[in-house]
Amino acid sequence: MRQPISSQTPETLGAWLGERGEKPYRAAQILKWVHQHFAADWSSMSNLSEPLQSGLSEAFDFSTIELARKQGDVDATQKFLWKLRDHQLVESVLIPASPALYGEPSDRHTLCVSTQVGCAYGCTFCASGLDGFKRNLEPAEIIDQVLAVERAQGRAGERAINNLVIMGMGEPLANYDNLMAALEILNADWGANIGARKITISTSGLVPQIKKLAAQPRQYRLAISLHGATDAVRNRIMPINRKYPLPALAAAAEEYQQAKSGKLTLEYILIAGVNDALDQVAPLAELAHRLRAKVNLIPYNHVDGLEWNRPDDAIQDVFHEALISHGTLTTLRREKGHDIDAACGQLRLRTEKELAGTNG
Ligand code: SAH
Ligand code: SF4
Repeated sequence: MRQPISSQTPETLGAWLGERGEKPYRAAQILKWVHQHFAADWSSMSNLSEPLQSGLSEAFDFSTIELARKQGDVDATQKFLWKLRDHQLVESVLIPASPALYGEPSDRHTLCVSTQVGCAYGCTFCASGLDGFKRNLEPAEIIDQVLAVERAQGRAGERAINNLVIMGMGEPLANYDNLMAALEILNADWGANIGARKITISTSGLVPQIKKLAAQPRQYRLAISLHGATDAVRNRIMPINRKYPLPALAAAAEEYQQAKSGKLTLEYILIAGVNDALDQVAPLAELAHRLRAKVNLIPYNHVDGLEWNRPDDAIQDVFHEALISHGTLTTLRREKGHDIDAACGQLRLRTEKELAGTNG
């Protein structure tokens, strides 16, 4: 089977070139076409000979993903549904930065990528886990989400993505080795060259892997999907909390904070009648203070077929202001892309349902 080109390194590609009697510097040229010029195909790699281009096409897969569906317009939030080589579906979301000063459209974008097909963690509010877990994504399948989105922007050589959030489908830390291999390439100066501090990994709270991440050398940012400031609330919506309750999660997060001295984020989706009561505010503020973390409040995005809803704006505002009055650094993100199923897993879920409908 052909290897994906996007997960090759200067060493592995150099070795392949060496076996063919090609000059080693060709590796740098090829990787530049892939990661920095966002070449559309082998034949556009104009400083390579035709025999080398066809040799590459026989040995390597140009991409492991194919666009299956797209929602949203350029300059707004765009959502990409990808078909993998085994026909599984995953999604990525491209979110533009807020318009810069003077209302100029901004060139800065954040891409949210998936790390697994489905998810095994079964948070009760989440579309990604509804059909259970299918498989881990390979390193190339993670990297190719970035490359394919860059190619789709149609601005060869001009990078659109300068922030990555590992918050799409799946639990990133449950696919630890493949994620680290992908990020190493996305971070490398010969690769996508996205700074480690511009890469945020989100986890529902896998304590041993948070510690492992704290011990590795890169300064990735960490976001913890908290969604409840007491074990009672977290246990109700996040089964992982029974395995790693809040005191263990808080200790691991603190270890991360100390190792990286970077800002941690606590993600807190507001779900009506579940975690939006004011009794959550004091323990949430206390935890944020201990971890020197920022709190991101996100109104819940309703998922078809699930019972949960977002609270009214007024309730969101009261919760937000109560946190601020505790001195917590807090943002309330009235979600961009709410209109296009922006929460993870929803486009895939809808597409799978439609396909099931047409097949019988
Ligand atoms: N598994 C990881 C990363 C993927 S989920 C994690 O749980 O952190 C990315 C974020 O989207 C998580 O904070 C998750 O709780 C949140 N999320 C899931 N479903 C959502 C929904 N319907 N509305 C809003 N946020 C949602
Ligand atoms: Fe998995 Fe994260 Fe969804 Fe929970 S919120 S089911 S961990 S993707």
